[in-house]
Amino acid sequence: MDYGYGIKMNSDSAHPIYVTQPDLPPLDEFIPYLQQIWQSKRLTNSGPFHDRFEALLCDYLNVEHISLFANGTLALVTALQALRITGEVITTPYTFVASSHALLWNGITPVFVDVEPDTFNLDPEKIEAAITSQTTAIMPVHCYGSPCGVERIEAIADIYGLRVLYDAAHAFGVKHNGQSLLNYGDMSVLSFHATKVFNTFEGGAIVCPDKKTKQRIDYLKNFGFADEVTVIAAGINGKMSEFNAALGVLQLQYIDKALAKRKQIDNDYREWLKAVQGIKCGLATPQNYAYFPILVEPDYPLTRDALYQKLKDHRVYVRRYFYPLVSSFPMYRGLLSSRPENLPVAVELAQKVICLPIYPDLSRDEIEFIVSLIASF
Ligand SMILES: *Cc1c(COP(=O)(O)O)cnc(C)c1O
Repeated sequence: MDYGYGIKMNSDSAHPIYVTQPDLPPLDEFIPYLQQIWQSKRLTNSGPFHDRFEALLCDYLNVEHISLFANGTLALVTALQALRITGEVITTPYTFVASSHALLWNGITPVFVDVEPDTFNLDPEKIEAAITSQTTAIMPVHCYGSPCGVERIEAIADIYGLRVLYDAAHAFGVKHNGQSLLNYGDMSVLSFHATKVFNTFEGGAIVCPDKKTKQRIDYLKNFGFADEVTVIAAGINGKMSEFNAALGVLQLQYIDKALAKRKQIDNDYREWLKAVQGIKCGLATPQNYAYFPILVEPDYPLTRDALYQKLKDHRVYVRRYFYPLVSSFPMYRGLLSSRPENLPVAVELAQKVICLPIYPDLSRDEIEFIVSLIASF
């Protein structure tokens, strides 16, 4: 394979390349939205953009009910409240810390269960052994947008009477068996953070199956107010502002184009990395191309961390998502379930993984440059 393409192998990229770069609509198209907000003086509390964005998102994602949030973490914290989850929750250590932090903020004990090597997701076969009399729910993560074993998880939840809350922060637009992946489980939580496939600067949402549940979530994200004089629960302020909602409305017009570009980048990486010994593409069939994880195997000439550092030296700032494992952070490592011998697959993946840059504006030259660097060490 020819990695020439006129790239000087020892040169650095003309500018730093980060693991992601947020996709933004043309600014001049956003100005009229801002003018509307300035005219209406409606800044938050379920304003016109908020309600429009909610309806448009339901359509786009093919789900029945969505409640918008200021960010994904508040949505997670609130979803746990709305489902009245307590005690112990079975979850994955191979994720962003917000997943488990949301449990701790609710006084819930996370119980870590190992993941599958091919999907990076909670291994359904290992869930049952972790269930105790305190277990009330399973909180899996669709890691990198790759669907969890939702049917198997549902079957286990049914047998043991457990709730299922999906952290779907990576799974915007992902489908499963011809329908939205977000329709599985009791609820799914999305994030629209700047680094995610679909962003509203900051933002998040809960997807739920029925109107009554959505109503409860809507109360909870607004301090628990049901009306001017009625407070039904100790709610929080989790509301999405009109600014973020207006941006979301505009971003939806561009998301399909962005996904198509990501797909092309994924294809290019896959094609060009085939020839590089010791590098394995992490996801077999990605859907929303949110991340491009590779595994640095023992037959690659460098260790994972040496490759990470070398790329950095050439101003390619890749990330080791998800290293370190959540279970190894100080607030979790004392738990029995955090012991590395309980999580051998997650431990190994966390040692091997690198997420390569992927975002709509990443050019072919830049992809070739990154691959040529990986191939040259
Ligand atoms: C980004 C992310 C979150 C948190 O979302 P925010 O909108 O940043 O609060 C939660 N879980 C996972 C897996 C994430 O990647």
